Amino acid sequence: MRRRIFAEEHEQFREQFRRFAQKEIEPKIADWNARGMSDKETWRRAGAAGFLGAAAPAEYGGAGGDFLYDAILMEEMAWIRAHAMMISLHSDIVLPYILTYGSAEQRQKYVPGCISGDILLGIAMTEPSTGSDLANVQTRAVRTGDHYVLNGSKTFISNGQIGDLFIVVAKTDPNADPPHRGISLLLVEADTAGFVRGRKLDKLGLRGQDTSELAFEDCLVPAANLLGQEGQGFKMLMEKLQQERLCIAVQSIVSCRRALEDTITYTQQRHAFGQPIAAFQNTQFKLAELATEVELGQAFIDALLVAHVAGEEIVKEVSMAKWWTTELQKRLTGECVQLHGGYGFMLEYPIATDYADAAVQSIYAGTNEIMKVIIARRMGLG
Ligand SMILES: Cc1cc2nc3c(=O)[nH]c(=O)nc-3n(C[C@H](O)[C@H](O)[C@H](O)COP(=O)(O)OP(=O)(O)OC[C@H]3O[C@@H](n4cnc5c(N)ncnc54)[C@H](O)[C@@H]3O)c2cc1C
Repeated sequence: MRRRIFAEEHEQFREQFRRFAQKEIEPKIADWNARGMSDKETWRRAGAAGFLGAAAPAEYGGAGGDFLYDAILMEEMAWIRAHAMMISLHSDIVLPYILTYGSAEQRQKYVPGCISGDILLGIAMTEPSTGSDLANVQTRAVRTGDHYVLNGSKTFISNGQIGDLFIVVAKTDPNADPPHRGISLLLVEADTAGFVRGRKLDKLGLRGQDTSELAFEDCLVPAANLLGQEGQGFKMLMEKLQQERLCIAVQSIVSCRRALEDTITYTQQRHAFGQPIAAFQNTQFKLAELATEVELGQAFIDALLVAHVAGEEIVKEVSMAKWWTTELQKRLTGECVQLHGGYGFMLEYPIATDYADAAVQSIYAGTNEIMKVIIARRMGLG
């Protein structure tokens, strides 16, 4: 179905990015997947071409567009399976914290580099002993004079090896009641003494993505790098999670569409019992059902994109979209593997990696169980 949320300028931007991706991104994907990370030079080229911080203000070198420009980048990257280069994490998940809560000095210091691709961003919330229960983080930041002394461990941090600047979630007041009021956000440069990059983790899927451990060992962070106010960290995180979860849903539905399209092609080409696999009623019904669900999901996401751009508070609906599209993606890729037969299990067929890549979608950016907790609360159920 023709989508109606994009203006002519958005479509032109999509075409420009497609041309850039064909030349600068697609040829590198296999190498990135083998190495487990993207490369900084491509980030700089993306920055120079205007594809980082598409929605950031022009005064810092951004394009000053709306979130639909970012959504286009996410869609195009998901379509070509360029998971290794996490533009969305950089531009749509982490950069907005600096733009919204950063002081004028912080914005001036960091945002131009983020937009040029010289500063790659990450966010370090999760710890070995706590993920969903974010208020329970143990990383400590103790103020001493002009610095915070940061100690603690983080895990599963995207861009952990390649990143230059991290928003680190830390406790500045371990005795706060409730505990989430003791959480603050610090901007930590990766070359700060005491910032230690740990293992790059070996994963089931999204193998091109750099997911790593980080440690802080008496890491001295200038007090000027506190983002917003002390004790406001949890509130800022909650405010920004709407966009983060919308990003996952946007990418998820495109990944569904891509897996479906490849499977349709495959079942038309592969024959059994003298006819294409696509001629079996089972195949047709399965694909018809999945195509229906993808259209339903896309319609919901498009409505959410419009509401998000209009500045509406849609935390409940975005949480619904995150769990629903990611569960669809897991189910759909499983069905598509089945329709590929044994070839679906072979890594040389993209559907096999699609299946593995889908597994994490219901886990990160808040698990789908947490999405349902949020939805239920907003339904007045506790
Ligand atoms: C590839 C990848 C990239 C990631 N990138 C980042 C990153 O860049 N930065 C970052 O900070 N983190 C990142 N994460 C971490 C991710 O956000 C966490 O894994 C996620 O929030 C879940 O936390 P956990 O792993 O500790 O699971 P747990 O919180 O231990 O959860 C285990 C299970 O218990 C369930 N559960 C927990 N609480 C409840 C509850 N109240 N009700 C019902 N069920 C519950 C969960 O839903 C889950 O099924 C990444 C993870 C992965 C795998």
